Amino acid sequence: MLLIDCPYCGPRNGSEFAWQGVPSPRPDPASTTPLEWRRYLYEEDNLAGWVEERWKHRSGCRAYLIIERHTATNEIRAVRLLGGTPL
Ligand SMILES: [Zn+2]
Repeated sequence: MLLIDCPYCGPRNGSEFAWQGVPSPRPDPASTTPLEWRRYLYEEDNLAGWVEERWKHRSGCRAYLIIERHTATNEIRAVRLLGGTPL
């Protein structure tokens, strides 16, 4: 079971959260190619190791979080609010 320590709700089951991917900078639509735009929208790197991912506490406070998680072991070493601002 994945246990995520939400800054507002405390430790909660991972099933309460929605994974939303690894944040990446949005390319400029005016200058990017269709291939680069497609990669931005649909492709993920799927690294084995530590990654910072965006999650939403959909069944709790509905806050957006940045979670530093090891994708091979599911170990979590940091959880913070997206943008660092309270609700
Ligand atoms: Zn929460």
